[in-house]
Amino acid sequence: MKEDHMPEVMGKLVYQCIECKSEFDIFDFIYTCPKCNSLLKIENTEADCLKKKSGKQWATLFDARKSTNRLELSGIFRFHELILPILPLEDIIYLGEGDTPIVKTNKELSGWIGTECFVKNDGLNPSASFKDRGMASAISFLNHAIKVKNIDNVLAICASTGDTSASAALYLSYLPKEKVKSVVLLPKGKVTPQQLSQPLGSGAEVIEIPGVFDDCMRIVEQLAQEYNVFLLNSKNPVRILGQKSYAYEVAQQLGWNTKDLVVVVPIGNAGNITAVMQGFVDLYSLGIIKELPVILGVQSLHADPVVRWWKTGAYSPIKITPSVAQAAMIGDPVSFPRVKKLVEEHFDGKFYTIAVTEEEIMEGMLIANRHGHAVCTQGGESIAGLKKAISEGLISNAHRFVVDSTSSQLKFSTFQQMYFTDTIDPVYGIKTKNELKNNPISMDADSSAIARHLGLKRR
Ligand SMILES: *Cc1c(COP(=O)(O)O)cnc(C)c1O
Ligand SMILES: [Zn+2]
Repeated sequence: MKEDHMPEVMGKLVYQCIECKSEFDIFDFIYTCPKCNSLLKIENTEADCLKKKSGKQWATLFDARKSTNRLELSGIFRFHELILPILPLEDIIYLGEGDTPIVKTNKELSGWIGTECFVKNDGLNPSASFKDRGMASAISFLNHAIKVKNIDNVLAICASTGDTSASAALYLSYLPKEKVKSVVLLPKGKVTPQQLSQPLGSGAEVIEIPGVFDDCMRIVEQLAQEYNVFLLNSKNPVRILGQKSYAYEVAQQLGWNTKDLVVVVPIGNAGNITAVMQGFVDLYSLGIIKELPVILGVQSLHADPVVRWWKTGAYSPIKITPSVAQAAMIGDPVSFPRVKKLVEEHFDGKFYTIAVTEEEIMEGMLIANRHGHAVCTQGGESIAGLKKAISEGLISNAHRFVVDSTSSQLKFSTFQQMYFTDTIDPVYGIKTKNELKNNPISMDADSSAIARHLGLKRR
């Protein structure tokens, strides 16, 4: 018997150009508009069907699915109708992504930040970053497309600051090897050893090139333009679809009450913040939430093109200086035009940005780590941005806050180690604080010497 909260295949998806609005077949592997070269988004041309249910009915349905033990609906596809409604359930690739916890800051950390907040720990995804959300939608779609189009061999490729490649390689490794080849392009020396080990371990072909992420991105853009490859960067709007689940989960975890909510997101290539904003717009347009939250985007002063745009109204790509928030170290975010559109159309007056120093990012991470949150440098960036926004009066602490920690602390432990051992390159401009350092102490295997060292009293 069919359970009544199971999704049905429905709707019709097309690529739609965000500028000229031309529409294209979703099964064509294109990533920019063939007419005007702008970015594409995915539109459900039968989205009005979704309005047959009230906001309350949707909320009840998603709440019922939250307790299901159907694996395909345990992750981002709890929100099937809002992500890829055309996808048959048997084509879903579920590796354990999504459904990550929100964790309240304790008294000490709240005091340091200047407000209590929830940290949503997206490091608790299968490849340890939020990228798995969009990869689950992209690879499930690819899995479906291979069947629909009867494709025999496809080359799936991405450029990466580390986590996209880790995620892409993991999800691709689940598909049949004779159908799909997995290739990632990384900027040599600009990803952490942990991040490099991930695609290697998953069996992807890893190509390292000199330069930074933006250079890798240019190459895969050329490949995607001139050859028939499946692009796994968030330029591909099917990635954005899955990443919207972050917003859906936040709303659900707050009982669908988004009143006075501020969501704090680090910005790199701007795919994540696009998806988070679009996700809340979806919920709002279906009446599932009653108001859109405020979005606070955070960047490092070493890579802050979106903050500069927000402050001046003029956008230009910038040349970046190395940042410890390495996964967000991008001078020309591919999804910037999507952000601009969303701000103009939906978040006017509800979109803020702030830039933080490298020192603030490191302290945000280290101090959060000392108070129960295994956040990465980008999570530290979010926390530092919230602290600064409150202390500068940009946003009052009379709101509720959810802070996005986009990956696991473990991926960025080399920055922690450099801080603790005072070996951070001067280019970051970080002055370390002794009270935040922690290093192992070597001692002999001698209990009385260790007891003496710890100041223990004999009983
Ligand atoms: C990719 C990434 C970001 C930046 O997200 P964008 O979608 O590129 O803006 C932030 N943090 C981590 C850990 C990432 O992997
Ligand atoms: Zn166009």
